Parts: sequence; C-alpha cells; structure tokens
Amino acid sequence: MKSYSVIIIGSGFGGQCAAINLSKMGISDFLILERRDFMGGTWCQNSYPGAAVDVQSPLYSISSEPYKWSQMFAEQAELEEYTNHVVNKYGLRAKTETNANVLSVTWDEASQSWDVQTETKGTFRAQTLINASDPLSTPVTPNFPGRDSFKGKSFHTNNWDHSYDYAGKRVAIIGSGASAAQVIPAIAGKVQHLHVFQRSPHWVLPRPDKRFNKFERQLLGIKPLYKALRSIIYWSLESRVIGFKYSKQMLNLVAQKAALRHIKKQIPDPVLRAKVTPDYTIGCKRIILSNTLYPALAGKNASLYTRDQGISAINETGILTQDGQQLDVDLIVYSTGYDATDGVISYPVIGREGQTLGKFWEQFPRAYLGTSIPGFPNLFVVTGPNTGIGHTSAIFVIEAQMSYIMKSIATLKQKNVRAIEVTPEAEADYTQMIHAEMEKTVWKTGGCQSWYQSKSGHVVAMFPGFSFTYRQMAQAFKPDHHTYS
Ligand SMILES: Cc1cc2nc3c(=O)[nH]c(=O)nc-3n(C[C@H](O)[C@H](O)[C@H](O)COP(=O)(O)OP(=O)(O)OC[C@H]3O[C@@H](n4cnc5c(N)ncnc54)[C@H](O)[C@@H]3O)c2cc1C
Repeated sequence: MKSYSVIIIGSGFGGQCAAINLSKMGISDFLILERRDFMGGTWCQNSYPGAAVDVQSPLYSISSEPYKWSQMFAEQAELEEYTNHVVNKYGLRAKTETNANVLSVTWDEASQSWDVQTETKGTFRAQTLINASDPLSTPVTPNFPGRDSFKGKSFHTNNWDHSYDYAGKRVAIIGSGASAAQVIPAIAGKVQHLHVFQRSPHWVLPRPDKRFNKFERQLLGIKPLYKALRSIIYWSLESRVIGFKYSKQMLNLVAQKAALRHIKKQIPDPVLRAKVTPDYTIGCKRIILSNTLYPALAGKNASLYTRDQGISAINETGILTQDGQQLDVDLIVYSTGYDATDGVISYPVIGREGQTLGKFWEQFPRAYLGTSIPGFPNLFVVTGPNTGIGHTSAIFVIEAQMSYIMKSIATLKQKNVRAIEVTPEAEADYTQMIHAEMEKTVWKTGGCQSWYQSKSGHVVAMFPGFSFTYRQMAQAFKPDHHTYS
C-alpha cells in the first residue's frame, strides 16, 4: 500500500490551497486524489451557459495568486484558465491521481493513520487526511414520479452536455437558484420556449460588473494595487453582515428596497412581478446578482411556474404540472443544487473504535472551526459545517482554514506525536457558540427554507458572523483544545 504524510481528497481551490500550503511548509510527501479525469473542481466542472462567479474576481482568487482578470465577475472559461494556471504553477498535476474516486476512509489505530479506499486505484495510507471534496460538488436530481421515463434529453447544470444543441428547442429548467439564474438569460434568446419551474423566488440585485481595459489589467498585475483592490471589495462586502446579523431594518432599507426597485424597473407585467417577489427577508437565501434574469423571464418565449403550478410528474414527452397542464419539451435542465448540509462528505468516514462520522453527525453536521471532529484524529474538513459565507469569497474562508490545518500538522512534528485530535469539550463549546450566534441571523429568522439548513432545522452551511472573526479564530491555534497521541 502506498503511504504518504498527507492525502488531500479533491483538487478544487480547497485541495490546491492545501497543497500550496504544505509545499510552503516543506512537506512534499503528499498526494491529491481526484475522482474526475481532470483536475480543478467547481469551475472546471460547471461549464453551463452563463456560468460565472458572483463575488468580484480580485477577491475570489487565492491571495498569493493575483491575476489580470478581464472582468470584475469572471466567467467560467476564465476561472478554469485561472485554476489551470495555479495547478501548473505549483506542479500539482504530478502530485495528483485522477480517476481516483474515494469510497471510504478508515482510521487505523495500530499505525495511527488513515486508510483511503478508492474505486479503481486501490488503497492508500496517510498520516493526515485533508478532505476537500466540497459539499457543493455532488449534484442532486430530485426523484420526480416518472423521471426516468422521459424520452427527450436531460442533464444537471453541474454536468452540462455541450454535444446537445438546445437552439430552437423547447426547454424546461427545474429550479430558480444561483445556477438557474445564470442559465436562463444565457439560453433564453436561442430556445423556442423556456419553461422555468420555481419553488420559491430569490431576491435579485443588480450585478455591478465591469470589463477591465488593457491599462486596468496591467494595474491588476501590480501586487500592492491588487491587494488594495481586494481590501476595498472585501470591506464593502463584509459590511453586509451587519444587515444579515444585526439589523433587519438595514437589510430592508438598503437591500430589499433596491431589490424591489430592480423588479419594478425590469418587469412591466404585475402578474410576473408578483411571482418573482419573495415573501421572506432578503439575505435569508443566497442573493442573486443579475441584470439579465428578469428581462429573460419577461420575454415572450418564457413561462414561469410557481410552487402551486409545480411538477406533478415527468412523462415520456415532458412535464405534467400540478394544475393539470401537459408541457411537451425536448430538454429538461435540472438546476436542483446539491446536498450541502446533511451530505457534507459523500463517502463513509470511520474513525476511532469504528465510530462513523455519519453517526456523529446523525443530528446535524458539526465540527470545531468547521474543520476537525473528536474521534477522528488527523482529519481536516475543508469547507466543513458552518464555514459557508454567502456574502464573500469562499476562498477567503478556505485560506483561513489552512491556517488552522497547517498549524495542527506542524504541531505533530513539534510534539513528536503521531496524532492530534480536538477534544469533545472544545468541539461542543464551539458548536454551541455557533448555533447561539445563529439565532440572531437572517438565515434563522428571515422566514425562508433554504439549502443552508439541515433536515434538523439547524443552519449548518453558514458561519454566523464576520469572515474576519472566523479567520481570527482559525489563526489562533489553541494547543489545549486538542489531545495528542
Ligand atoms: C455552480 C457554483 C457556483 C459557485 N459560485 C461561487 C461564487 O460565486 N462565490 C463563492 O465564493 N463560491 C462559489 N461557489 C462555491 C464553491 O464551491 C467554492 O467557491 C470553491 O470552488 C470550493 O472549492 P473546493 O475545492 O472546496 O471544492 P470543488 O471545487 O468543488 O472541488 C472538490 C473536488 O473534490 C472532488 N471530489 C469530491 N468527492 C470526491 C471523492 N469521493 N473522491 C475524490 N474526489 C472527490 C470533486 O470531483 C472536485 O473536483 C460555487 C459553487 C458552485 C457549484
């Protein structure tokens, strides 16, 4: 069995940041396992029409890897280019086993290490395991009655089939979240008819996008200027937390009013306006940034179906709605998201004394700093429970987690021990603090149902506060919150 100091599962920005940080610490004995036949994660996988980041690119980038972006909100192709630039610069291809789908990981007490079983590449052993498999990586397609009887074409936005020409076709899009909001305007002008199925509307704000000219791109290449721009974007986004957590009044006054004006300006039809106006506080679900979604929905070839006109069944030729309409379509696009809460890690994790993570997370997923779990030594979860930050860059949080993970790994060497494990008390105190703080947030009180919540009702996808608070906690490694063996 091949053995490594560290195995990283997943080759997206989480896996890349882990690899870069290990290299900086002088640890080269690591391996990345990636289930796909290509590296890169989110932006190499999600190539649906219109795919683009919704956090300004100078901030949505690895802090040590500035880039001369062509626009403020980069599109998928450029994000893929950036990903490949990082992967190549750090020589990560040579450190990666692709087509290595991890089926399970098991702690081996005798060797104080993890055995990582893959589908086709055998079993690997590692002292430390960094899970960077991402809760937003495995798509969910709801099991509508008759789903598999459909004779036309269907796929999930996560897995767009570019060999299929949708031009002039009758298309149904199931879902109205962040990905659907990008696909709809991107294809609306080309299809014959677009049927959009919305369970509940999202609040939408204008997208302050901008193309950078040649001169501005040169400026982005100057590191101190790039850093200054990052700071300006960071602090302007961070101020949103005041509304999300401390002042619903401010959310109403600033954001919700702007969103209502956006609807009024872009949609003339009062019936459609009513359909797209949410009945919950802005921010409770992820806010969508788009200048093109409403005009596309208001177009002559688009129909929007609300919850009471939702899908009753799928049949050979199309969709039967709950109010009895048969809609024949050529293509069904599932924009139905991910199991980002109860399915944080999609493979079994078996820790000390045969305890499974599934059992530990039976009530709801939880972890110290969203990263480590008692009973599961030397295991670190990137983008784990309560590390999501809807208002800013996920990469900011990933980099903050790296600080804690790398300090933990360095401690193994300093103390000359094989294993580090968070204490049950430290994890329980942290989790209690997170959910007490959560009570004050719009995600808990805003009156919506969202993918931020687990089946138990706990909001497990989000961190209930400022991202700098999270970073401060992750940077302050606390030796007495851990045991060593
Ligand atoms: C469509 C979409 C849009 C997004 N937009 C934004 C945005 O605008 N702003 C923002 O901040 N965040 C956004 N996100 C969140 C995004 O997930 C993070 O920004 C970031 O890309 C996460 O990086 P990651 O490395 O953790 O995950 P990923 O990039 O998803 O990488 C995880 C990798 O792990 C691999 N993997 C999973 N399971 C296994 C297994 N069992 N064995 C081996 N390999 C495995 C996957 O194949 C994948 O390559 C978006 C996510 C999606 C899906």
